[in-house]
Amino acid sequence: MIPVPLFPGQTVAVLGLARSGLSAARALIAGGANVVAWDDQEKGRAAAEGELLLREPAMWNWSQIKALVLSPGIPLTHPKPHPVAAEALARGIEVIGDVELFYRTLKHMGHVNGNGGAAFFSQGPVNPTHGLKGNGNGNVSKAKTPLICITGTNGKSTTTALIGHLLAKNGWDAQVGGNIGKPVLELGPPREGTAYVLELSSYQLDLSPTLKPSVALLLNITPDHLERHGGMAGYIAAKRRIFARQGTGDLAVIGVDTTAAAETCTYVSARGGPTVAPISVDHVIGRGIYALDGVLYDGLYSPPAEIVDLKNVASLPGAHNWENAAAAYAAVRGYIKDPKAIGRAFASFPGLPHRIEAVGKIGKVRLFNDSKATNADAAAKALAAYPKDIYWILGGRAKEGGIESLARYFPRVKHAYLVGEATEEFAATLDKGGPAYTRSASLAEAARAALAAALAGEGEAPIVLFSPAGASFDQFKDFEDRGNHFRRIVAELARGNGAAAAA
Ligand code: ADP
Repeated sequence: MIPVPLFPGQTVAVLGLARSGLSAARALIAGGANVVAWDDQEKGRAAAEGELLLREPAMWNWSQIKALVLSPGIPLTHPKPHPVAAEALARGIEVIGDVELFYRTLKHMGHVNGNGGAAFFSQGPVNPTHGLKGNGNGNVSKAKTPLICITGTNGKSTTTALIGHLLAKNGWDAQVGGNIGKPVLELGPPREGTAYVLELSSYQLDLSPTLKPSVALLLNITPDHLERHGGMAGYIAAKRRIFARQGTGDLAVIGVDTTAAAETCTYVSARGGPTVAPISVDHVIGRGIYALDGVLYDGLYSPPAEIVDLKNVASLPGAHNWENAAAAYAAVRGYIKDPKAIGRAFASFPGLPHRIEAVGKIGKVRLFNDSKATNADAAAKALAAYPKDIYWILGGRAKEGGIESLARYFPRVKHAYLVGEATEEFAATLDKGGPAYTRSASLAEAARAALAAALAGEGEAPIVLFSPAGASFDQFKDFEDRGNHFRRIVAELARGNGAAAAA
């Protein structure tokens, strides 16, 4: 835990008592603050019962309250501000989140924004005769603490975990948290060699007004959660906030393959301040990082240096993951002296569960759990990663538009297996020129049938892909519960077939 010493003897209100709210309350108390807390839900209050002072906001003594710490799940602005947030703002009390508390605490301790992630990117082209060893960056100092923050519509968790992995493999004490895994205030306190790697949603950015990351990443922007940001412009503005405070010596890593993020790249470059490292998996970028057909290039070298062939990294399949990998490489480039060592560290990245996760190989058939693909866009990434011989299990609760947008990938699919509530809707789409399909009574039955067909088929390296393109709530608690269920089914099938499923 990182105690927050910013409000000694003062009162701070905490609204929302899920994991991050609870951790904020605890860290504030550990730092000497008085906390008054509330959650509109009984479940949230129960978690804090006996530990925190719980008081309905109507009973709060506002004149004593120095700050309101809001959970990112609670609306600050759209669709309309939570009445308690509105009241705080009307009274001139600042409304912030746990990430802001974390950042201010690090600054208070004199521990942040060291050794500029930008050093490598802001120098001139690297002389090729130095090869990949001498990058002109000198020794990488670990005296101060890099703060690497990741946002974007998709790929945040993968990129965050990957950056943590690359740093840890190269001698850093990588503390990974935020929107993924641990709330920030539950991370370990900074020591020499610590690097913080934080996944941040746009809600968390909204609640972090002074945050100034050493390295800020924006992977991509496509429409999502628009109701919480008052439309696309609001959503883009929230994402851009990650760069707002950055200055000289800081690094802005920005994907340029989606229009809104590319425009942000132009905007941040024009505004000045941080050094900008553009990222693409679509085209060559001079003085940027890019992947072409899965080969990752460092365009800071002249000629560009080939770092690693990502097609050999099984845990990062598909162009979407190459974007994540290029961004991760750019983010750590200033902190790891030898780029080849970064390249090597990719090979041992275990990947994240439920995202095209390899869960077994039975005979010639590889099986993948992509339960996180709760909509068609996400399933498209998985289908795009494999050119043919896909035995596709899909279903769940359909989202708007169903799987209509996936038609271009249908030729890759040998057979589809439909499960859950969406069965009839998806069947109707497949009837319009899609692959043959089977209505399966359960996920287990679908997996059994898909495996049998893949084993019997002519393909040399067929895959069974559970990429549902629908939400899990028709039959499961959440996508993790659904993915774990699929993993158990595969383990059982492997036992039945005398093959070992991957752990
Ligand atoms: P997030 O944390 O932003 O939700 P994840 O890393 O958990 O992202 O990936 C979630 C899903 O988003 C993946 O299953 C994949 O379908 C898709 N995805 C991952 N990376 C990207 C990317 N760079 N661009 C587009 N889609 C992606």
